[in-house]
Amino acid sequence: MLKPQTLNAFENFCEEAKKYDFEPKIESGYRSFERQLLIWNEKVLGKRKVLDKNGKPLNIAELCETELMKAILLWSALPGTSRHEWGTDIDVIDAAAVPKDYEAELTIEETLGVFGKFHKWLDLQIEGKNAFGFKRVFLPGIGRVQPEPWHLSYSPEAREIEHNFTAENLAERLSNSDILLLPQILANLDWILENHVFCYFER
Ligand SMILES: [Zn+2]
Repeated sequence: MLKPQTLNAFENFCEEAKKYDFEPKIESGYRSFERQLLIWNEKVLGKRKVLDKNGKPLNIAELCETELMKAILLWSALPGTSRHEWGTDIDVIDAAAVPKDYEAELTIEETLGVFGKFHKWLDLQIEGKNAFGFKRVFLPGIGRVQPEPWHLSYSPEAREIEHNFTAENLAERLSNSDILLLPQILANLDWILENHVFCYFER
C-alpha cells in the first residue's frame, strides 16, 4: 500500500544497506484513516490504554474531554493527520540485528541498543543525503509528538502531500466520520495542527 516511488526508493535503500550487513524491514507502513479512527475511538472509550508522557497508563475517568483528547494525541495521531495514511512514511527496523521471531517495540531503548548500529549508519546516510530521499520527521524539540527515530518519510512524495494538506479538508473529513470527541477536536483544530502536524512539514 506504499506509493510506487516510495517503494522503489525503499528497495534501493535496502540494497545499499545490505552492503553494510543491514536488513531494513518495514515494521509499520500504510495505515488507513479507518484504522486510525478505530484506535482513536477505542482510546476514548477506554478499550485501549491511554498513556501519559512517561508511558504510564492514565485513569481517563479523571480527565475532562479536552484533556483526554490531548492525552491521546501524545501517542496517537488524529485520524486524517497520520503520515502513515500517506503511503510515503514507514517505521523501519534492522531485521539482521534480531532473531526472526523478534517483536519490535519501536522504542528509544531499541534505537540505542539492539538497532544502535543501524541508526548510527542511518544518521550518516541522512546527513550525507545518501538515504535515497528518506528523512526522519519526528525529531526531538520540534512539536508535541514523541521522538520517533525509526519513522522515515520519503521526502519527494511526502512534500507534495504536505503541500496539498489543508485544515478545511481535514475538518470536513472528520465531520463526516464517526470520530468521538469531535466538538473538542474542532474547537482545538488549529492548536492540534500547529503542535502535531504542520511543525513537522518541510515547507
Ligand atoms: Zn511511524
